[in-house]
Amino acid sequence: GNLSEADQALVARRAQALGPAYRLFYETPVHLVRGEGVWLYDTAGKAYLDTYNNVASVGHCHPHVVAAMARQAGVFASHTRYLHEGVLSYAERLLAHFPAALAHVMFTCTGSEANDLAFRIARAHTGGTGFIVTENAYHGVTYAIAGMSPSLGSGVDLGADVRVVPAPDTGPEAGARFAAGVQAAIADLQRHGIRPAALIVDTVFSSDGVYTDPAGFLAPAVAAIRAAGGLFIADEVQPGFGRTGAAMWGFQRHGLLPDMVSLGKPMGNGYPVAGLVMQPRVIEAFGSKARYFNTFGGNAVAAATAMAVLEVIETEGLMDNCAKVGAVFAEGLRGLAKTHAALGELRAAGLFLGQDIVDAEGRPDAARAGQIVNRLREAGVLISATGPKGHVLKIRPPMVFSAENVACFLDRLEGVLKQG
Ligand code: PMP
Repeated sequence: GNLSEADQALVARRAQALGPAYRLFYETPVHLVRGEGVWLYDTAGKAYLDTYNNVASVGHCHPHVVAAMARQAGVFASHTRYLHEGVLSYAERLLAHFPAALAHVMFTCTGSEANDLAFRIARAHTGGTGFIVTENAYHGVTYAIAGMSPSLGSGVDLGADVRVVPAPDTGPEAGARFAAGVQAAIADLQRHGIRPAALIVDTVFSSDGVYTDPAGFLAPAVAAIRAAGGLFIADEVQPGFGRTGAAMWGFQRHGLLPDMVSLGKPMGNGYPVAGLVMQPRVIEAFGSKARYFNTFGGNAVAAATAMAVLEVIETEGLMDNCAKVGAVFAEGLRGLAKTHAALGELRAAGLFLGQDIVDAEGRPDAARAGQIVNRLREAGVLISATGPKGHVLKIRPPMVFSAENVACFLDRLEGVLKQG
């Protein structure tokens, strides 16, 4: 569709007010004004099935979350330098979802800040400065963390002490190959006189194109970084809080115990709350010298909101829903692939799916993936494409997605694929 005159005016105002560094989704940007559950609505009242939003993970504007946020905002809304029970109750309830060794949590406002704190703690604990990330990783916006986010492209320089390893692939050799890459990066750091501090990975490798299986493939790489004196940081900003269906955290699918775990996006269902969970021993060096105060991190409203989100995940059985509906989703896509050759390999864990789009020769087809994303938008379905070649449909709906929603998605995708 064509952009209305009113929306063209908004695009111009954005450029004027916000400057040149922002990007809009879609060839025809979407102007949203309201959300409810898995649905978003534009100014004309058109409904979009949200198949992409892992922030509003318990559904847009979930009434229990909105009520908790509003209630706390009307009572007390300040930070962690006063005694307040809310942040402690939440911390304890959150930590109960982790292995006992991960016994502290610190609060931030964004996943970027959580990773930046992990960066500082890892340096203090190990005395090293070297970090290893995957080749299309995204970990955040601070100077240090943007320098560990090669998916930002050539506009951002990687840190001098950062080494990039190939993303995992699929198949039985995935673990050995990934570990070999990490081993080579460790050797390269050491050759340059740089002591390794940590390996940090998104445990579903979202921006690398979604690499979920075989579960357990991460273990040899983690053993390699530990043997070199470095830590393992699990970035759970994308897979965390039950989305993979198998476990609350993506690292659990790999049978691992991380030194630190960064959290964000779905934690507050849209309210800015994020955090870093850690083994107490790794923060001793940092904590004995530095003090940490994040003005808004863990504030009373953030804690109440995050608590409500966790309650919804628990009481509505959303992790199980991810497993159940995720299986229906994967089966549906595999079914559709039988008659539509553009659908190549599918990788999925729960409600986190990466669907390759390929040409007639089976090669990555980013142009077609982009076309599908834009046509789905016209058909009232929101998704995006990812991966280094841009040919992977990233499907990541709110965790309240139903089998009926899956049927709606598949129906509209089939319509788009039939357009050729
Ligand atoms: N890590 C991962 C894996 C992410 O996907 C993101 C955000 N896309 C971040 C960290 C950074 O989180 P934030 O945008 O909240 O700073």
